[in-house]
Amino acid sequence: MALRLTPTSGAPGEASPSAALGNILPFRRSGAEADPPRRIHLSPPQLAGGEMQALEETLRSRWLAPAGPIPRAFEAAFAEASGFGEVLATSSGTAALHLGYRILGVTPGDEVWAPSLTFVATVSPAAQMGARITFLDVEPGSWTLDPDLLRDALAQAAREGRLPRVVVPVDLYGQCADLDAIVSACDRWGVPVLSDSAESLGAQGRGRAAGKGARLACFSFNGNKIITAGGGGALVSDDPRLITSARHFSMQAKESSPHYQHETLGYSYGFSSVLAAVGLVQLRALESRVAARRAVFARYVAGLADLPGISFMPEPAWGRSSRWLSVMLIDADRFGADREVVRGALEAVRIESRPVWKPLHLQPAFRGSRMIGGNVSIGLFERGLCLPSGAMEPGEQARVIEVIRRLARA
Ligand SMILES: *Cc1c(COP(=O)(O)O)cnc(C)c1O
Repeated sequence: MALRLTPTSGAPGEASPSAALGNILPFRRSGAEADPPRRIHLSPPQLAGGEMQALEETLRSRWLAPAGPIPRAFEAAFAEASGFGEVLATSSGTAALHLGYRILGVTPGDEVWAPSLTFVATVSPAAQMGARITFLDVEPGSWTLDPDLLRDALAQAAREGRLPRVVVPVDLYGQCADLDAIVSACDRWGVPVLSDSAESLGAQGRGRAAGKGARLACFSFNGNKIITAGGGGALVSDDPRLITSARHFSMQAKESSPHYQHETLGYSYGFSSVLAAVGLVQLRALESRVAARRAVFARYVAGLADLPGISFMPEPAWGRSSRWLSVMLIDADRFGADREVVRGALEAVRIESRPVWKPLHLQPAFRGSRMIGGNVSIGLFERGLCLPSGAMEPGEQARVIEVIRRLARA
């Protein structure tokens, strides 16, 4: 079968990932049933325009490996976009986190501290390395790691002689954690900070880019993130030694000798040139994506905030969220329907929405882990709903709003 790389339909910037698939993949829908209204996804991949040409040039160049000039060009562009001096592009955000844990020296039995309200990938590499995870609650003003709780818990841990190997704040749904306060609490005890900024490229905290000020930060270019390469990630730092070391581990820890000498063992975590070519084009759209996501959020607020029992993820005065996802809170008693009823009503008309992350200390996979605090995370999980937040056609977001409005207590 000949692969056709030029789509015959689908406008540039078309949000739906499925539009052109029929032309290039050997399968078709049966076609007998009438087309239902287009499904509205939570955060679908979006093309910036120019990806096709970049891919074609890359394929022609024969630079396909996770090495060479294209990943390097992506790293240079990402240094610019992220505000960090040193960048290692990786095969995923989770791989970047794994490398971060490795170069910070996490070993079995070490403690790793992270907020409970996050995606599992924040801590799964550390848990798989044998670390014990301690979860902490988030603060209600930003939904990110509570610096006061952290400061007290660190002092207590220091008294008990069990300080964590690393603290991992998470920039949640496009919102930066209060990194200055977190870093100063950790500096007091010499504990490094690895910022999981996978959801928050383009956001700012206290006037600085997401993650800036942490020893290390990681980002993701997965399909649902604000910038996608179809997969990929980055580990960044302002310390060149850390990124040099991470780069070594990311390429199987090969020493520079013709016979592949290995003093230690690494991983295959490089970023393919093919994906880097897509990522380079996508990065150029970052600023406009942030503006678009913030506009989506503002339209939800304008369309729903007057309803009883409805509120939205707050934005603290010191932060500027990218609003990667628009998140709404539903007080069931006042609104007249709970989060799951709203989610079900949206799903019934092909609109995807999702509960706020289930706190990790409630996940069976982390049974027995220590949790410090927890009421804020649990409350947000019970009431929080992530709404479609990517590019939507005019009228589509109005449809989402209309479905929710109809459920409100009269
Ligand atoms: C997406 C995400 C990751 C993982 O990134 P991948 O590229 O999917 O491996 C890590 N942490 C958080 C908070 C995320 O949302």
